[in-house]
Amino acid sequence: MKKVILFDIDGTLVRDEGSAGGAFLLAFKTIFNKDISTVKVSKAGRTDVAIIQDVAQVTLNRPLELEELILLNNLYIDNLTNNLISNSTMQSIPGALELVTKLHSLGDLLLGIQTGNVEQAAWLKLKHCQLDHYFSFGGFCTGQHERHLIVKSAIDQALHIDPSNTKENILIVGDTPHDITAAHENGVSSIGVTTGHHTSEELLQAKPLGVVENFMNIEEFLNFL
Ligand SMILES: [Mg+2]
Repeated sequence: MKKVILFDIDGTLVRDEGSAGGAFLLAFKTIFNKDISTVKVSKAGRTDVAIIQDVAQVTLNRPLELEELILLNNLYIDNLTNNLISNSTMQSIPGALELVTKLHSLGDLLLGIQTGNVEQAAWLKLKHCQLDHYFSFGGFCTGQHERHLIVKSAIDQALHIDPSNTKENILIVGDTPHDITAAHENGVSSIGVTTGHHTSEELLQAKPLGVVENFMNIEEFLNFL
Protein backbone atom coordinates (compact mmCIF):
# COMPACT_ATOMS: atom_id res chain seq x y z
CA MET A 1 0.00 0.00 0.00
CA LYS A 2 1.57 3.25 -1.12
CA LYS A 3 0.95 6.65 0.41
CA VAL A 4 -0.67 8.92 -2.20
CA ILE A 5 0.23 12.60 -2.60
CA LEU A 6 -1.89 14.76 -4.90
CA PHE A 7 -0.27 18.07 -5.86
CA ASP A 8 -1.91 21.24 -7.10
CA ILE A 9 -0.01 22.90 -10.00
CA ASP A 10 -0.37 26.72 -10.10
CA GLY A 11 1.29 28.37 -7.13
CA THR A 12 2.31 24.99 -5.73
CA LEU A 13 4.59 23.32 -8.30
CA VAL A 14 4.66 26.04 -10.96
CA ARG A 15 4.83 29.83 -11.04
CA ASP A 16 3.82 31.83 -14.11
CA GLU A 17 3.92 35.56 -14.83
CA GLY A 18 1.74 35.53 -17.92
CA SER A 19 2.40 32.63 -20.29
CA ALA A 20 -0.94 31.00 -19.54
CA GLY A 21 -2.85 34.21 -18.86
CA GLY A 22 -1.60 35.75 -22.10
CA ALA A 23 -2.57 32.61 -24.01
CA PHE A 24 -6.11 32.86 -22.66
CA LEU A 25 -6.44 36.63 -23.28
CA LEU A 26 -5.39 36.18 -26.90
CA ALA A 27 -7.74 33.23 -27.42
CA PHE A 28 -10.70 35.14 -25.98
CA LYS A 29 -9.93 38.24 -28.07
CA THR A 30 -9.53 36.17 -31.24
CA ILE A 31 -12.91 34.48 -30.82
CA PHE A 32 -15.07 37.20 -29.24
CA ASN A 33 -13.20 40.35 -30.33
CA LYS A 34 -13.15 41.53 -26.71
CA ASP A 35 -10.10 42.65 -24.79
CA ILE A 36 -10.36 41.20 -21.28
CA SER A 37 -6.98 42.32 -19.98
CA THR A 38 -8.65 44.63 -17.46
CA VAL A 39 -11.31 42.18 -16.30
CA LYS A 40 -10.79 41.26 -12.66
CA VAL A 41 -12.00 37.86 -11.55
CA SER A 42 -10.76 35.68 -8.72
CA LYS A 43 -8.41 33.01 -10.05
CA ALA A 44 -6.32 31.38 -7.30
CA GLY A 45 -7.48 27.89 -6.48
CA ARG A 46 -10.39 28.08 -8.89
CA THR A 47 -10.97 25.95 -11.97
CA ASP A 48 -10.34 27.09 -15.54
CA VAL A 49 -13.97 26.75 -16.57
CA ALA A 50 -15.25 28.66 -13.51
CA ILE A 51 -12.83 31.51 -14.29
CA ILE A 52 -13.77 31.53 -17.98
CA GLN A 53 -17.49 31.66 -17.19
CA ASP A 54 -16.92 34.61 -14.83
CA VAL A 55 -14.99 36.42 -17.58
CA ALA A 56 -17.76 35.65 -20.09
CA GLN A 57 -20.42 36.92 -17.70
CA VAL A 58 -18.57 40.21 -17.17
CA THR A 59 -17.65 40.82 -20.83
CA LEU A 60 -20.48 39.16 -22.79
CA ASN A 61 -23.23 39.23 -20.14
CA ARG A 62 -23.80 35.51 -20.58
CA PRO A 63 -22.10 32.17 -19.95
CA LEU A 64 -20.41 30.36 -22.82
CA GLU A 65 -22.00 27.43 -24.62
CA LEU A 66 -20.18 24.10 -24.68
CA GLU A 67 -19.11 24.59 -28.31
CA GLU A 68 -17.63 27.98 -27.45
CA LEU A 69 -15.78 26.51 -24.47
CA ILE A 70 -14.25 23.83 -26.70
CA LEU A 71 -13.23 26.38 -29.34
CA LEU A 72 -11.74 28.67 -26.69
CA ASN A 73 -9.90 25.81 -25.02
CA ASN A 74 -8.38 24.60 -28.30
CA LEU A 75 -7.10 28.08 -29.13
CA TYR A 76 -5.84 28.56 -25.56
CA ILE A 77 -3.84 25.33 -25.78
CA ASP A 78 -2.36 26.38 -29.13
CA ASN A 79 -1.38 29.79 -27.74
CA LEU A 80 0.01 28.30 -24.53
CA THR A 81 2.12 25.84 -26.52
CA ASN A 82 3.52 28.73 -28.56
CA ASN A 83 4.15 30.91 -25.49
CA LEU A 84 6.01 28.14 -23.69
CA ILE A 85 8.28 27.73 -26.69
CA SER A 86 8.88 31.37 -27.54
CA ASN A 87 8.42 33.59 -24.52
CA SER A 88 7.83 31.67 -21.34
CA THR A 89 7.64 33.20 -17.90
CA MET A 90 6.72 29.84 -16.44
CA GLN A 91 9.06 28.03 -14.07
CA SER A 92 8.90 25.52 -11.28
CA ILE A 93 8.50 26.86 -7.74
CA PRO A 94 11.92 26.86 -6.00
CA GLY A 95 12.39 23.50 -4.30
CA ALA A 96 9.44 21.82 -6.07
CA LEU A 97 11.50 19.84 -8.56
CA GLU A 98 13.90 18.69 -5.84
CA LEU A 99 11.01 17.66 -3.56
CA VAL A 100 9.16 15.72 -6.26
CA THR A 101 12.41 14.06 -7.37
CA LYS A 102 13.05 13.00 -3.76
CA LEU A 103 9.49 11.74 -3.22
CA HIS A 104 9.63 9.78 -6.48
CA SER A 105 12.96 8.23 -5.51
CA LEU A 106 11.54 6.91 -2.23
CA GLY A 107 9.59 4.38 -4.28
CA ASP A 108 6.78 3.85 -1.77
CA LEU A 109 4.72 6.89 -2.80
CA LEU A 110 2.17 7.35 -5.56
CA LEU A 111 2.30 10.91 -6.94
CA GLY A 112 -0.69 12.47 -8.69
CA ILE A 113 -2.11 15.84 -9.66
CA GLN A 114 -5.26 17.70 -8.59
CA THR A 115 -5.64 20.96 -10.50
CA GLY A 116 -8.16 23.44 -11.82
CA ASN A 117 -6.31 23.39 -15.15
CA VAL A 118 -7.79 21.64 -18.14
CA GLU A 119 -5.77 18.45 -18.65
CA GLN A 120 -3.82 19.50 -21.74
CA ALA A 121 -2.68 22.74 -20.08
CA ALA A 122 -1.70 20.87 -16.92
CA TRP A 123 0.60 18.48 -18.76
CA LEU A 124 2.06 21.32 -20.88
CA LYS A 125 2.95 23.25 -17.72
CA LEU A 126 4.42 20.20 -15.96
CA LYS A 127 6.40 19.20 -19.04
CA HIS A 128 7.78 22.70 -19.48
CA CYS A 129 9.05 22.57 -15.88
CA GLN A 130 10.40 19.00 -16.30
CA LEU A 131 7.95 17.73 -13.71
CA ASP A 132 5.65 15.67 -15.92
CA HIS A 133 7.32 12.27 -15.70
CA TYR A 134 6.94 12.09 -11.91
CA PHE A 135 3.14 12.00 -12.23
CA SER A 136 1.11 9.28 -13.88
CA PHE A 137 -2.46 10.41 -13.20
CA GLY A 138 -4.56 13.27 -11.90
CA GLY A 139 -7.85 15.08 -11.54
CA PHE A 140 -8.27 17.96 -13.98
CA CYS A 141 -10.86 20.55 -15.03
CA THR A 142 -11.91 18.25 -17.82
CA GLY A 143 -15.32 16.70 -17.38
CA GLN A 144 -15.89 18.30 -13.98
CA HIS A 145 -15.59 21.95 -13.06
CA GLU A 146 -15.73 22.00 -9.28
CA ARG A 147 -12.61 21.60 -7.18
CA HIS A 148 -13.97 18.93 -4.86
CA LEU A 149 -15.02 16.81 -7.87
CA ILE A 150 -11.57 17.23 -9.41
CA VAL A 151 -10.02 16.02 -6.16
CA LYS A 152 -12.54 13.15 -6.05
CA SER A 153 -11.54 12.12 -9.57
CA ALA A 154 -7.86 12.05 -8.55
CA ILE A 155 -8.68 10.04 -5.40
CA ASP A 156 -10.80 7.56 -7.38
CA GLN A 157 -7.93 7.02 -9.81
CA ALA A 158 -5.45 6.49 -6.96
CA LEU A 159 -7.73 3.91 -5.36
CA HIS A 160 -8.20 2.23 -8.75
CA ILE A 161 -4.42 2.02 -9.30
CA ASP A 162 -4.02 0.43 -5.86
CA PRO A 163 -7.36 -1.03 -4.66
CA SER A 164 -5.80 -1.99 -1.33
CA ASN A 165 -5.28 1.69 -0.54
CA THR A 166 -7.55 3.80 1.65
CA LYS A 167 -8.35 7.49 2.00
CA GLU A 168 -6.32 7.67 5.22
CA ASN A 169 -3.25 7.29 3.02
CA ILE A 170 -4.07 10.21 0.73
CA LEU A 171 -2.64 13.71 1.14
CA ILE A 172 -3.51 16.86 -0.85
CA VAL A 173 -0.87 19.58 -1.30
CA GLY A 174 -1.91 23.05 -2.42
CA ASP A 175 -1.40 26.79 -2.08
CA THR A 176 -4.99 27.94 -1.53
CA PRO A 177 -7.81 27.33 0.97
CA HIS A 178 -9.74 25.80 -1.97
CA ASP A 179 -7.27 22.88 -2.04
CA ILE A 180 -7.67 22.29 1.69
CA THR A 181 -11.45 22.61 1.65
CA ALA A 182 -11.66 20.17 -1.27
CA ALA A 183 -9.55 17.71 0.75
CA HIS A 184 -11.98 18.01 3.68
CA GLU A 185 -14.96 17.51 1.37
CA ASN A 186 -13.38 14.26 0.19
CA GLY A 187 -12.35 13.00 3.63
CA VAL A 188 -8.59 13.21 3.06
CA SER A 189 -5.87 15.25 4.74
CA SER A 190 -3.94 18.18 3.30
CA ILE A 191 -0.87 20.36 3.56
CA GLY A 192 -0.91 24.04 2.67
CA VAL A 193 2.12 25.74 1.16
CA THR A 194 2.66 29.51 1.09
CA THR A 195 4.33 29.60 -2.34
CA GLY A 196 1.19 31.10 -3.93
CA HIS A 197 -0.79 34.16 -2.87
CA HIS A 198 -2.05 32.96 0.51
CA THR A 199 -0.48 33.45 3.91
CA SER A 200 0.07 30.75 6.48
CA GLU A 201 -2.75 32.25 8.59
CA GLU A 202 -5.20 32.13 5.68
CA LEU A 203 -4.32 28.53 4.91
CA LEU A 204 -4.51 27.47 8.57
CA GLN A 205 -8.06 28.84 8.79
CA ALA A 206 -9.09 26.08 6.36
CA LYS A 207 -7.64 23.54 8.84
CA PRO A 208 -5.02 21.56 6.95
CA LEU A 209 -2.77 19.01 8.64
CA GLY A 210 -0.11 21.69 8.51
CA VAL A 211 1.42 24.50 6.48
CA VAL A 212 4.93 24.75 5.06
CA GLU A 213 6.50 27.97 3.85
CA ASN A 214 7.99 26.31 0.76
CA PHE A 215 9.56 23.04 -0.36
CA MET A 216 13.16 24.01 0.29
CA ASN A 217 13.17 22.02 3.52
CA ILE A 218 12.42 18.51 2.28
CA GLU A 219 12.72 16.94 5.73
CA GLU A 220 10.02 19.28 7.06
CA PHE A 221 7.67 18.08 4.32
CA LEU A 222 8.55 14.41 4.88
CA ASN A 223 7.56 14.75 8.54
CA PHE A 224 3.91 15.06 7.42
CA LEU A 225 3.94 11.69 5.64
MG1 LIG B 1 -2.91 26.66 -6.84
